[in-house]
Formats: sequence, structure tokens, C-alpha cells
Amino acid sequence: MIPKTEIVYSWPYIYALNLNLSKEEILALYKKIRDFGEKRFKPLFNKYIDAILDTIPKVTGYKWEKNYIPIYLMSMRGQSFSFPLTIKIREDRLLMLVILIHELVHNNFYPRGKEKMAEPDFASRRLLEDMAVDLVTREVVKKLEIKAYKQIKISSDFSSNHFLKGKNKKIKPLPINLTKETIKQSSLNKISLSDLTEK
Ligand SMILES: [Zn+2]
Repeated sequence: MIPKTEIVYSWPYIYALNLNLSKEEILALYKKIRDFGEKRFKPLFNKYIDAILDTIPKVTGYKWEKNYIPIYLMSMRGQSFSFPLTIKIREDRLLMLVILIHELVHNNFYPRGKEKMAEPDFASRRLLEDMAVDLVTREVVKKLEIKAYKQIKISSDFSSNHFLKGKNKKIKPLPINLTKETIKQSSLNKISLSDLTEK
């Protein structure tokens, strides 16, 4: 079974990841993301998405467990992430596509809702998983003959930077009690692997 995917835009979600912006700025940002998604990213997305969803399980050996995966396009300070699948808009649409493959591989590897985020080794496991996801991403890009050599390198650097950062630092447990203030400071999107390691 191949999951259904669709590109979605949600202004409350955009607001949640950009709490520093005014209502007018959020609406302008929403329009910008939507325009970019519909006019610039969708043609590339439509061209490859079926092949991507078909190829990932062939590389990983895992079946898709979900039958629907919404893909949120976003503008934010932090990086893209896998759950809910959120892709940062970028001028380089091929880079967005490579990152989308990476985040889909995470979803294929490890359907969300099963992770035990409070476990002390959660962050370490995620770091290792990211390296594996990166390898699968490269393989999928190669199989589909997507000419994205530069983009693969950038995407890998995001992963290895996380990995190397984590390697030399003590891993902190995930902040479980997210107060409104914590969310505001971190803009939610910044709660990423790099924030789980001690500075
Ligand atoms: Zn990742």
C-alpha cells in the first residue's frame, strides 16, 4: 500500500511556529507559502511523489504503516522535520525535494506515536537513525535518477552536523514540560536534535 500524500497549508500552524509575528504578517506569510507551494513546488512534487513513495519501502524493506501523510509547507527559523511532516520552503526546490524524501524515510522507518521520547537514549537513537535515513535518501535519489548532487550534499551536511554535534556533547533528556514561554523562546521548530545536546 502506498500512502496518500497531499501538500497542505495551515495558518494556525504557521502562527504556532512563528509566534513573534503579527496577525497581518502571518497572513502575508501564509499567502507567500501557499503561492510558492502551488506555483513553484507542486510541479516538481507531482512529478516525483508516486515514484518516491514506491521506492522508499523497496530500499528500507519496511512497509508503509500509514495510509495518509499530510505534508505541511512552512516558513520558519529551524529545519524541516518528519512529524508532522513539515518542509521549510526554499528557493532551491530540488533541495526541498531531497529533504522531503529524507523526512518521508523517517516516517517509513519509524511511524510516529511509537517513540518513547522520555527515554534517556532517545536523542542518541535519533542521531543514529538520521545517519541511516540519510543513506536511504541518497539511494532513493540515485534510483530515481534525480540530478541533485549538490542538494544531497547539503541535506547530508544537515544530518552529519546533528550527528557530530551530538557525539561530543552530553545528551540532555527531551524537555517534556513545554510551557508557553519555552515554546515562544524556541519557536517550537527549534526543538530539534541539536537543542537536545548540551552546549
Ligand atoms: Zn532526519
